[in-house]
Amino acid sequence: MNKHFILKFKIDSGIKVCFFFIACLILSMVLLLPFSAFHYKNLTQTSVLYLETELTNIKSSFIPFLDKTFTQKNCASFIREFRQKVFNEKIVKESGIFNQEDHVFCSTTQGDVSFNLFKSIRKRLNDSPTNTTLSYTKTAITGEKSVLLIFSKPEVGGISSLIPPQYLIDMVKTKLSPYDIDFKLAVIDRGLTQKKENREITQYSYQSDKYPLSVTAYLGLSYYLNFLLNYLWFGCLVAGVSTSLLVFYKHKKLSQSSLGFSLSNALDKHQLYINYQPIVENTDPNLGYKVVGCESLLRWKDPQLGNVPPDVFIPLAERSGLINDLTYFVLKEALNLLKTHKHTFKTLYISVNISRKVICRKDFIEKVNDIFKNEKQLLTQIVFEITENTECSEAELVVIKENLKAFSELGVKIAIDDFGTGYSGLDFIRKFPFHILKIDKVFVKNITDESSYAIPLIESIIQISNSLKTKIIVEGVENIAQVSTLNNLGIECIQGFHFYKPVPKKALVDILRRQKAINNPNE
Ligand code: C2E
Ligand code: CA
Ligand code: CA
Repeated sequence: MNKHFILKFKIDSGIKVCFFFIACLILSMVLLLPFSAFHYKNLTQTSVLYLETELTNIKSSFIPFLDKTFTQKNCASFIREFRQKVFNEKIVKESGIFNQEDHVFCSTTQGDVSFNLFKSIRKRLNDSPTNTTLSYTKTAITGEKSVLLIFSKPEVGGISSLIPPQYLIDMVKTKLSPYDIDFKLAVIDRGLTQKKENREITQYSYQSDKYPLSVTAYLGLSYYLNFLLNYLWFGCLVAGVSTSLLVFYKHKKLSQSSLGFSLSNALDKHQLYINYQPIVENTDPNLGYKVVGCESLLRWKDPQLGNVPPDVFIPLAERSGLINDLTYFVLKEALNLLKTHKHTFKTLYISVNISRKVICRKDFIEKVNDIFKNEKQLLTQIVFEITENTECSEAELVVIKENLKAFSELGVKIAIDDFGTGYSGLDFIRKFPFHILKIDKVFVKNITDESSYAIPLIESIIQISNSLKTKIIVEGVENIAQVSTLNNLGIECIQGFHFYKPVPKKALVDILRRQKAINNPNE
């Protein structure tokens, strides 16, 4: 049944992911459509530029024949060379040279050819800054409509070359047809082609500024489909990235919520327990360090996940609000320990981490009073560890202040945990009544190194603590060198792996009993 449920869940989410992918793909393609304008405009312009380049190349390759010597009526002497030139040209079929009077006196056409340029052509040549123009007329030579590329050189004459229109059409085709763009190529507004169908969605014209020619592109449905197909990879990329992000986000949320779900059951399923880390003090140099209290540290052992570190589940509990119940659980356990082993704990304390979310609750004092209702005097053996930071509103700060004052009156000691790592620092400790400053382990790491920046910092914390008349506990002490450096600085209270790691309740009681037996052999 359960497997069936998981399989169905997986299929459902797979279908949803597919839908999301397709929706993203469609959306990105729709968003891409406006960019098609850049695409077809660019293609149309490119096709015109391609024609311009080809025509300009032809023109420059014929320029040498516009020499003064060729303008004399000596056609016979260079006609072979001229014909060879035309023969070598890809798209020029015939060519003729005209003189200053616009009379074509030498031509590659077989037989005698002698005619004058049209006046309209002369006018266009004169109007053109490069003395170049095109014409699209029925020529006497071929009897068909042809394109003429005509250019002249002042005081010499000019050359007129015949280009079959199909060549120019084919050039535009190579640029536009792969994209299913129907087009009209026009020379002096006379169309060399006609558009095939009347089903265009939009059209775009581009006029050459060097030659009297233009290309009009007609963009129909098939162009847009082709465009989208060409950029399908882009749509797939966008949809793929968005879907991956969605899956990643969902997975993270799911794993967080499932962790949160497991945590919410952990208390009822007795998967939570407490380890206690002894805190030692060196009050009498003859006796050495002795345990004066311990910190309660919550542990969660999930059957599937194994040991989940408090750095993971405490923030989760804070977000879900479960931290209140967890704190009450720790407080009840601490009370039971003190109650059950009254004698062993006589002068010792248990500190409990109180999250900011908990300490700023108005009903927290009631809850604590309720838990300790029959053992009020044991509250004097309780330390609340709270951290300094500024994540509170003004209203919350008022409640914190009231709570701390009330707890102090009940005999609870208040410690600032991880001192030196928060932001509010002095301002925070001046506002509230504290008894202990716990110096965070980051300051202890390399204090044996003489150049360590931490020593002056610890010294200044000692000064602050002296002026506020609070006690200091240094956390995270892992070796003897650190102990002796701290000892030289006058630090008496230490918590760290060098002395004790966090241990289960029973091991703690054994440690305390052994210590008692050594210190009071007659008891
Ligand atoms: P914390 O309050 O700063 O607790 C001290 C942490 O330092 C503990 O980590 C302890 O195991 C570790 N520690 C102690 N001595 C040494 C040492 O010599 N070297 C090193 N490297 N570490 C040392 P732990 O148990 O993993 O707890 C992590 C944090 O989880 C605690 O930091 C505390 O902020 C939070 N936490 C644990 N239990 C509770 C709880 O019941 N309530 C709340 N609100 N927070 C808790
Ligand atoms: Ca702590
Ligand atoms: Ca700490």
